[in-house]
Amino acid sequence: MNFSTSVLEISGVGPANKKKLEKLKIKTVGDLLFYFPRRYENFSQKSSVASIYNKGKYTIEGKVIKTNTDVTIGRRIAIFEIIIKDETGEIKAVWFNQPYLKEKIKEGDEIVLSGAVNFSKDGLQFSNPFFRKLNSDEDAFDIISIYSEQGAVTSSFLRSVIKKALSGINIQNKETLPVEVVKKNNLLSLSKALNEVHFPSSTNSLKKAKRRFSFERIFLLQLFILEQKIAISKKKGVPVPVDIEKVKDLVDGLPFTLTDAQKKASWQILKDIEKNTPMNRLLEGDVGSGKTIVATIASLAVIKAGYQVALMAPTEVLSRQHFDEIAKLLWRFKIDIGLLTGKKDKIRSKRLKGDTFEVSREKLQEKVEEGKVDLLVGTHTLIQDKVKFKNLALVIVDEQQRFGVEQRAKLCLKKDSFIPHLLSMTATPIPRTLALTLYGDLDLSVIDEMPEERKPIITELVSPKKREDAYLKIKEEIKKGRQCFFICPRIEDPDKKPADGKKSPWANLKSVEKEKERLATEVFPEFKVEGLHGKMKNSEKEKVMKDFRDKKIDLLVSTSVIEVGVDVKNASIMVIEGAEMFGLSQLHQFRGRVGRSDIQSYCFLFTSSWNEKIKQRLKALLTSKNGFELAEKDLEIRGPGDFIGKKQWGYDDFTMKALKDPVLVESARETAKDILEEDPGLKKNSLLRKRVDLLKRKIHLE
Ligand code: ADP
Ligand code: MG
Repeated sequence: MNFSTSVLEISGVGPANKKKLEKLKIKTVGDLLFYFPRRYENFSQKSSVASIYNKGKYTIEGKVIKTNTDVTIGRRIAIFEIIIKDETGEIKAVWFNQPYLKEKIKEGDEIVLSGAVNFSKDGLQFSNPFFRKLNSDEDAFDIISIYSEQGAVTSSFLRSVIKKALSGINIQNKETLPVEVVKKNNLLSLSKALNEVHFPSSTNSLKKAKRRFSFERIFLLQLFILEQKIAISKKKGVPVPVDIEKVKDLVDGLPFTLTDAQKKASWQILKDIEKNTPMNRLLEGDVGSGKTIVATIASLAVIKAGYQVALMAPTEVLSRQHFDEIAKLLWRFKIDIGLLTGKKDKIRSKRLKGDTFEVSREKLQEKVEEGKVDLLVGTHTLIQDKVKFKNLALVIVDEQQRFGVEQRAKLCLKKDSFIPHLLSMTATPIPRTLALTLYGDLDLSVIDEMPEERKPIITELVSPKKREDAYLKIKEEIKKGRQCFFICPRIEDPDKKPADGKKSPWANLKSVEKEKERLATEVFPEFKVEGLHGKMKNSEKEKVMKDFRDKKIDLLVSTSVIEVGVDVKNASIMVIEGAEMFGLSQLHQFRGRVGRSDIQSYCFLFTSSWNEKIKQRLKALLTSKNGFELAEKDLEIRGPGDFIGKKQWGYDDFTMKALKDPVLVESARETAKDILEEDPGLKKNSLLRKRVDLLKRKIHLE
């Protein structure tokens, strides 16, 4: 038996069980052994019954002295009760709707119970605790693995199959990592780690097992990223001779002076594009720090040297905004800018300043191919739409996850001759650990200061009682001619209740549609209120955004579609409903939509539930004005999910948790570097080669 053997070979697994396992996408022994527990129930820290005098989580060990199964509440819910006794006292445990337990737990059994203790009318009792029998073989561990279950596939079933698989397979000397990597990093062997991850012998060895698998995944990821980096450094880029006078001309004509950070970033970029190796740079800067102008400077330099630029934004609204903004900045340089959107496409002509023509998609594409469009702005469809550039030298990507070498090459008419320089921009400050993992192949420019004129935004966490006061303040500001954003966590109210009849955690959350109605009729009848969300047609969205910019709308109720990039200087109030549903970084992004001029701006945070924990977390926004600080906090509290689309990267919980550990990430990276130095191309490590290629395919399939 080995990893690729069918599960049918495991003793006790027949066609029926095979079918069950297939529900979890488990087909082979390998699939099964690498189906890791979702969590663990730890029975190792025990309390005595007498020491339980308050509600909380406890584990106790004792003898069952009484069981009772007849009780039901309103004839609907079956209740199973037991009394358990140790040397210090007795306590009751209750299970709801688990009638089969009466077959499992009998009077006289020695058991361990673990779970929540609460007050009931009869005093303190365990409700729905986990249990294990002391003399049963299957559960002879203090730490029991709990898997993601599905239908009939229970954790206890999985444990028994995995146990059989582990004893049937010979993995003593099997390794998926090079032996010296295992040794050097003090990792558990594969065999030991697999045993420990499913059947931990102690908290400590479980930790070691998890560390081994976390290391392994991050190590592979680092190999992939470093190989990308090496591959790019071997490609030819276009050396762009920068006409510094033109750049000065642009900068001198701006209505503001660049911050030092903007100057430095621009300089780094201009230096990069002069080289004949392709630039690979990430421009990180808080919302409103002024990344667009930096990108525009680079674009101008490239265009004036006779090359083309492609700019990709995550949404159409943002593409249009970039198009308008850059066209404004560059019109006097006689540049052709094209905008590729859903249906009608626009091209701004150099001959008629400020005029915009609509041309067909085909025509625009043709012009791009002929080199008659200097800068093409669009969404990700730029690459999907088979747009080809005549002589593309720079790709700018705003707020997108990854943009690989292959994707860059795809945009060029003549493939393989060179690949364009890449400038990635993001307003999500990424903690260093994550940046290394996600963007370890990019050089970094950081804009870490705000334009001077900006006043700090006054942020308030509004308790439910103070809601009316906040509305008054908002009215006052709108009367002064200001505009206001209202962010709601969802578009519409769900029409159905969740199937299980429970209250959905989203039940109290405001929706754009309802809230828009309410604000327009009840709260702000004297003002113009409009809604904006992702399900609207593009033309509708654009109209609303345009009306908002033209001050025809006072209050814009929106989902998170306005999260990134939207720039309306006169908007000075940001209200966020259901703030507890968002990450701190994301809230910081929302807040960045206001305070973009010298007007005093405000940010009001409303919540749909209110407790100490929520208060504490959101308070970070009042004290910390810096996105990096908040990002670190997010990573600590919420994990890396806010920074990387979990699905997009196909990371499992293991990897996600591992990403919180900077030491582990750093050592995986160092190890990957060493291996690649010693064995470029991984020719001597065929297994690693295979696994990195697999990962590559997975990441590129996104
Ligand atoms: P982001 O980094 O979020 O993309 P933008 O590039 O949209 O920020 O810039 C935000 C606003 O700040 C824009 O209206 C821009 O014109 C303005 N801006 C950029 N740089 C400066 C500066 N140095 N001084 C004053 N205003 C600036
Ligand atoms: Mg921007």
